[in-house]
Amino acid sequence: MPLYDFKCGKCGKRFEELVRLGEIPPCPKCGNSKPEQLFSASAGVSTDTTRGKALGQARRAAGAVKKEKDHAQREYERNYFKDHS
Ligand SMILES: [Zn+2]
Repeated sequence: MPLYDFKCGKCGKRFEELVRLGEIPPCPKCGNSKPEQLFSASAGVSTDTTRGKALGQARRAAGAVKKEKDHAQREYERNYFKDHS
């Protein structure tokens, strides 16, 4: 579930909630059932676009780590065979 930022128009309370798309949680301070949903990029809003981007970055990072590992493995084997031949 994505984490959304909300701001209550009644008491001004700002809060974050994990909610399903389209669900609006009531304000935890005053109980206002219609707080304003904030969509600022810095607010940790997870849209499909940002999630896809993050996933792509994670995949690329994982790929880089794997490459690094393969490289280390090859180095290790090279040194091993060098020492033992
Ligand atoms: Zn409130």
